[in-house]
Order: sequence, then structure tokens, then C-alpha cells
Amino acid sequence: MEDPRIRFDSRTAFSLALKHRVDAYFQATGRSRGGGARMMLKTAVIFAWLFAGYAGALALGGFLGGSGSWIAVIAFGLSCGLATAGLGMAVQHDGGHLAYSERRGINKAAASVLDLLGASSYVWRVKHGVIHHTYTNIEGVDDDLDAAPFARMAPSQKHHRAHRFQHLYMWPLYGFLTAKWFLFDDFSNLARGRIGTHRIRRPRGLDLGILVGGKIVHFAWALLIPILVLGLGKGLVFYAALSVACGVTLSVVFQLAHCVEEAEFASTSEAQAQTRDFAAHQLATTVDFARGNKLLSWYVGGLNFQAVHHLFPRVSHLHYPALAKIVEQTAAEFGVRYRATEKLRAALRSHYRWLRRMGSGEAVGLA
Ligand SMILES: [Zn+2]
Repeated sequence: MEDPRIRFDSRTAFSLALKHRVDAYFQATGRSRGGGARMMLKTAVIFAWLFAGYAGALALGGFLGGSGSWIAVIAFGLSCGLATAGLGMAVQHDGGHLAYSERRGINKAAASVLDLLGASSYVWRVKHGVIHHTYTNIEGVDDDLDAAPFARMAPSQKHHRAHRFQHLYMWPLYGFLTAKWFLFDDFSNLARGRIGTHRIRRPRGLDLGILVGGKIVHFAWALLIPILVLGLGKGLVFYAALSVACGVTLSVVFQLAHCVEEAEFASTSEAQAQTRDFAAHQLATTVDFARGNKLLSWYVGGLNFQAVHHLFPRVSHLHYPALAKIVEQTAAEFGVRYRATEKLRAALRSHYRWLRRMGSGEAVGLA
């Protein structure tokens, strides 16, 4: 599974100090690394948001006449899209990393929420849990950087003339991310048995059942039932609104952590040149943002503390603000740069500027 050409050292003095201090934090506070009752409540709140939006779309979209029903379908569809993105970021993501709970079965259930939302949690485990989390921002291995031919995200990627406008056209294109992922990428990855340079085994048993069942249930609730209740036109519009809101949200949150001017990138050959300090690599390639924004932190499931998440993926995101302080202090002591953009607006501008620089054909930021 691992890429043998790129080596990491996760037992450097910096990594060990981080681990030791975080262990001490959990010992001193007596808290568990999982999310506990607060995560159960959070999950219930976001599911209730999704159900309310869904019921609103089906009820008002069906009963209201004229343009009112179309507006209701679009508004509730967008709301459902934001709720599904919230479930992905705050519930499934922790579950997939075994961080939602101390109990394995609960983590599996939380991880499988992704299948209800449309994507395979089995494929995600390899694509995100292994590849993205180990080979972060290493072009050619980290599949999350691959937006070819539409965009050039990293300095060692090929440049095309059309990329000159990517800082403008990529924002709406992000809206198609989830539809492409659910309808195409999952199947093509499994058919080829590969994600980028990594092999992925075909799922069997329970994994296969969850994958097939998840796809069927997803398309039933998100597309088929709305079409049956609202008619073909409104049903398709509902799915489009849901899909666009979810795709833009997930893409932008990901991009603000990794595809910004403050983040570093490496080509595969550069990464192979020397053994890399795992913790320092994660901090160089990942940027936190808007850490003081409590509502945003709640909604994005701590993914605005993504540098902390990359260092401690098995800890519930509810602990990230506390862990960020430990990471910041330890990094300063060891002379490692820990990057955080304080405002959401500044992080958005940084992603815009990065897209523009990469689109101009500039080769910058090689680590
Ligand atoms: Zn993750």
C-alpha cells in the first residue's frame, strides 16, 4: 500500500515531543480522544438540519404553486447540500479516521455516513486516510491535488494556456466535484484497481455491501424520491442544488488548507531525494485558518485546524483548538514553521492568488 520511493521519519525529536505533550494533555484532563456525547448531539443536530431541509423541499416544492415552488426546491436543496457537507466534514471524517469514538463499531457507522451521502467510504479510506494523509501535497502521489486537465494546483504540474483563467472558473467548477466523485471517480478507481500510483483492492463482504447499498440508498433519497414527488424537472434541480452546495463547500475547505500560498509542495522526485520528517512535512504542506471562528470550526468539523488534524488524525476534532496551542508552542521551540491564517477571508484570497500564480505558469514553492 505504501509508496516505497518516499520515506518518512515519524520518530524525530519534534514528532516525539508533540506526541508526548499531547499524551500529557489527555492524561492531565482525563478526557478521552473520542468525541463522546458531544459528538452524538452534534451528529443529531446536523441530521435534523438535513431532514428539515429535505422535508421542506418535498413539501413546499410540491404544494406551492408557480415560481414559489421552484425557489423552495432550490433553497432547500442548497440547505441540504450544506448539511450533507457538514455531515461529511464533522461526522464521517472523524469516523473514517477512527476518531469519532473509542468504539470501533461507532466509528464504522459514522464513517459509513459517507456512503449515504453518495461516496464510497471504502475508497475514501485509501484515497484520503492513507494517500492524502501520508503524501500530502506531493504531486503525482497525493490524488487530491490532481484536477487535471481543468486546473494546475501544484508547481510541478503541467501548464496549459486555459489555466490562465483558473482563478475564475475553478470556483463554480468545484460545484461539480461531488457529482464527479460519486458518479465517476469511485467506480473508475475500483475498475482500475488504482488511485494514482496506489493499488486498491476490490471490496468484499460487508465493505462491498455498504458500497453498493450506499450508492442505491443515496440515489434513492437524493434523486429518485424528489423526482417521484416533485416531477422530473424539480427533482433534477433539487439534486443539482444539493450537489453544487456540497461540492463547493467541501472543495473550498480542502483547498484553504493545502492549496494556498503559505503551503509547500513537492514533486515526487524531490520527495524521494531525502527521508522527510513526517510531522514537519505535514506542517509545511497544511495551513490552519480562522481558528478563532467558533461557528465555522463547529460546521467544518475542525478542518480549519487541518494541520493539527494531519498530526493527530485519530483525535476527535473537538480537541483541535486545545491541541493547536500545544502544536504552535512545540513548533516554535523546535524552529518548525506552523502556519495559520487568522481570517477566513484572508485564506480565501490566498487560495485565489495561488490559483492565479499556478495558472500563470509560474514554477514556485518547490520544497
Ligand atoms: Zn483527514
